[in-house]
Amino acid sequence: MSLPERIEKIRTQFDSDLSKLRLTADSLEELRLKYIGKKGGISRLFRDFAALSPDDKRTFGKDLNLLKKFVEDSIRQLKEKLAENRQTDSGFDYTLPGFSFKEGHLHPVTQTMNRICDIFREMGFGTEFGPEVETDFHNFQALNFPPDHPARDMQDTFFIEDDILLRTHTSPIQIRTMLKQKPPIRILAPGRVYRNEAINPRSYCVFHQIEGLYVDEHVTFAELKVTIEVFAKKFFGQDVKLRFRPSYFPFTEPSAEVDISCIICGGSGCRLCKNTGWLEIMGCGMVDPNVFEACGIDPEKYTGYAFGMGPERITMLKYGIDDIRLLYEGDVRFLEQF
Ligand SMILES: [Zn+2]
Repeated sequence: MSLPERIEKIRTQFDSDLSKLRLTADSLEELRLKYIGKKGGISRLFRDFAALSPDDKRTFGKDLNLLKKFVEDSIRQLKEKLAENRQTDSGFDYTLPGFSFKEGHLHPVTQTMNRICDIFREMGFGTEFGPEVETDFHNFQALNFPPDHPARDMQDTFFIEDDILLRTHTSPIQIRTMLKQKPPIRILAPGRVYRNEAINPRSYCVFHQIEGLYVDEHVTFAELKVTIEVFAKKFFGQDVKLRFRPSYFPFTEPSAEVDISCIICGGSGCRLCKNTGWLEIMGCGMVDPNVFEACGIDPEKYTGYAFGMGPERITMLKYGIDDIRLLYEGDVRFLEQF
């Protein structure tokens, strides 16, 4: 085969290889070696070219150089295209800075509830849940609110039917637990509750409660006090002081309200504690024997204590929030601070 024929053949072969090329770094290197590598077809042509007569060199030199330049340029352009593809493949530019996603977090009231439950869990309290639509029996009667008892007015109720209502506290969870389980019982009852109250900075128609119940033989008020004290110190800090004031609830006797020394002023008086130095955090007491009887638990054999607190109030105290409505408006500017 004459030199011009071989030049033509290599040119045709290169065009054909190009049309079938799948553009990768490996296939491009293979192509380069095949034509302009040391043992490549064009390199061999140049070696044979050296043996030609000066006249033939003049005739074919130009064509051979043009072929070499064409192959070199083609391979260089493909290399550039390959580098470009690496950046824009599947429309994704790997060199761009990443997107930052807005991360959510738990609502401050949920955070408070989780923290409260964690502290009591360490003291051996399990967790029970119950329905938000309750019967009059579980919400009132079994808790020593007889029909027409004036104490029912303490809790303005959303009624669905005569005997069906939205629970006004989480105490029905205690009733349900005592009905299905024999002492010893040591549980927390967290959940959402409803009261037909005007919405204002101090009250809302939906809020949460966490109640605790411990029933066994020989449970005393002293145990209740120390349990609450351990909780308050873990939650509000070791320096916090407690006081128990006598109070009244239908379902406990005796009953008390628990105050802690003000977490802002430490007891000297400020706006948060209305200059009293104390903040009310929960109600508590010894389970009334009438409640045990309604649940089939022998009040001669067993005693127990119960306590209940409002996570909204505790959250407001902890963060100095003065309007409960902020907790329910879902305003991200407010919520993202916690
Ligand atoms: Zn204060």
